[in-house]
Amino acid sequence: MEGGEEAILFSSGMAALAGLLMAELSAGDEIVYFDECYHRCREFCVEHMSRYGVVTHLVEACDYEAMEAAVTPATRLLISESPTNPHLSVVDLERFAAIGRKHNVATLIDATLATPYNVRPLEYGIDFVLHSATKYLGGHNDLVAGVVVGSKEKLEPTRELRGVTGAVCGPHNTYLLQRGLKTFELRMQRHNANGLAVAGFLEAHRRVEKVFYPGIDSHPYCEIARRTMRGFGGLVTFQVKDADWRRTADVVDAVRIPRIGPSLGGVESLIEQPRLMSYYKTSDEQRKAWGIADNMIRISCGIENTEDLIADLNQALETAGK
Ligand code: PLP
Repeated sequence: MEGGEEAILFSSGMAALAGLLMAELSAGDEIVYFDECYHRCREFCVEHMSRYGVVTHLVEACDYEAMEAAVTPATRLLISESPTNPHLSVVDLERFAAIGRKHNVATLIDATLATPYNVRPLEYGIDFVLHSATKYLGGHNDLVAGVVVGSKEKLEPTRELRGVTGAVCGPHNTYLLQRGLKTFELRMQRHNANGLAVAGFLEAHRRVEKVFYPGIDSHPYCEIARRTMRGFGGLVTFQVKDADWRRTADVVDAVRIPRIGPSLGGVESLIEQPRLMSYYKTSDEQRKAWGIADNMIRISCGIENTEDLIADLNQALETAGK
């Protein structure tokens, strides 16, 4: 689906990231990372790879000049998500790949939120694509798996190390993943339609301060997203107007169709408040620096009926957290 030569399946998305980085990097090597990303990926690089002598430079997402300026002769890998989680910033993959080529540094894009239905980074010259298959590829919120895609030659060390570390995907998970892939295209069409409709609804609602979704005109990366993506996925982040974290939590509690949960990409919609869930351990200053606002809600639109989803969000916004 990615158009890659080789795909190495792991026991989770995190195991895939850890497996690739451990295979590619040694003490003294450096990586440059766009700072908006799934927080555990950042944590793995900054707090754990560093213990093995790998230096991580975090630069602001989509600041290509800063990324290039951070490259040194020791740099081995440039990393980003696209779109990023939870801000949905979209990377200019051509530009990102060009920096790697110019400095002879490999590039990695975590395209979990995009999926190969919406964008195929290898076609832009990216070396490695990573997916948490727990999300859209599995698609049913009932398995954990991860995959790295690229050329056979470049992925050989990762394949070797996977056997040594034992982070293989179990047979039942693999079966569930194959089952999920049978409906992948159909599911993505509905995820894309629901994401766009819900983002449009939220943007027009008087109780919504801001919406993050690459398919709407107000999003700073709308132009690049429209140019490079076939659809924009089911993940929509928004902020509730004039609400502290408690009122925002009341809105989350009032929705009836999405279940509360921090995952994404399954047929059932999930909703979470990053302040209270994904980032519950993070200090106030750090959350502020990463742009995780108290009044932020992230919804992963599933494949339910579009009008039902919108009506549900509307009743929650009309009644709760005032
Ligand atoms: N990458 C992204 C963008 C994610 O959102 C996640 C999980 O939320 C991961 C990687 C990690 O995947 P897993 O939960 O399969 O370990």
